[in-house]
Amino acid sequence: MKKFIYLILILCSFVQLSGQTSFKTEHVIIVVMDGARYQETFGDSLRRYIPYLNRLKHQGVLYTNFQNNGPTFTNAGHASILTGNYQCIKNNGSQLPKKPNLFQYYQREKGIDKTKTWIVSSKGKLEMLANAKDRKWWNRYMPMTYCGVKGQSVVYEGDNQNYEKVKEVISAFHPRLMLVNFLEADARGHNGNWEGYVGGIKNIDFLINELWNYVQNDPVMKDKTTVIITNDHGRHNDGRRSGFKEHGDHCSGCKHIFLMGLGPDFKSGEIVEKEAGLIDISATIAHLLEFQMPTSKGRVLTEMFK
Ligand SMILES: [Zn+2]
Ligand SMILES: [Zn+2]
Repeated sequence: MKKFIYLILILCSFVQLSGQTSFKTEHVIIVVMDGARYQETFGDSLRRYIPYLNRLKHQGVLYTNFQNNGPTFTNAGHASILTGNYQCIKNNGSQLPKKPNLFQYYQREKGIDKTKTWIVSSKGKLEMLANAKDRKWWNRYMPMTYCGVKGQSVVYEGDNQNYEKVKEVISAFHPRLMLVNFLEADARGHNGNWEGYVGGIKNIDFLINELWNYVQNDPVMKDKTTVIITNDHGRHNDGRRSGFKEHGDHCSGCKHIFLMGLGPDFKSGEIVEKEAGLIDISATIAHLLEFQMPTSKGRVLTEMFK
């Protein structure tokens, strides 16, 4: 009888333990709104350029003090997201991140097929995100990529065309892990065109809402997909250097960005004021998809979880 009771107790604690570590999430999509300043997104009290995200925040968690604490450029920002390390890296795509990325750890530990991991990017130069300089990881466990015009890893594809590819990949492969880059806020900002810059933010806001609905209407990914939305960097504060036209230093305009998480394992309508940063995304996703990422220096954003 005593033995039987022990057995029941052990079984109970096992169920409890497995309940603590297993999540509903089976797919994760990271969406990067390239180069939008916080003051044009959630820092704007009217949220006039992000009406859709402003509505979606009620279904998820929003970080209002989210930072890029590394170099505030596109390639460095994206590499921080995927490797969990802040690092200097050339911004033209000719240099690989030093450390292995989320896709590589995920494929290796879980035996996930390459076709279930994707980078779909408006910017061709982000092709470099798939690989790592580290000799043990170089050219291994790399995700599928479709970057830039016709997926040829050069120049820039418009966000609407890029979104068509995103939908194609979702329907055909139901990726377990995917990074999507939308560039128009950044590209139009560099042109010095204010209307173009905020128009780019508005269009990406619209596309993210479309993407969320698309996933919720997909029979495989519905209710099992977490979407994490952020920026790779902001832009200079007004009055600093060329203001919104450029970015790349450590002013608060360049560093302060936002993070929003939507999905079955995250709280709803939660606002987090505690500081967090780009490198924390990798640790959080590794936790959610239950694999180890020892080279990530980020922390798991436990405040997001139910
Ligand atoms: Zn830029
Ligand atoms: Zn700046």
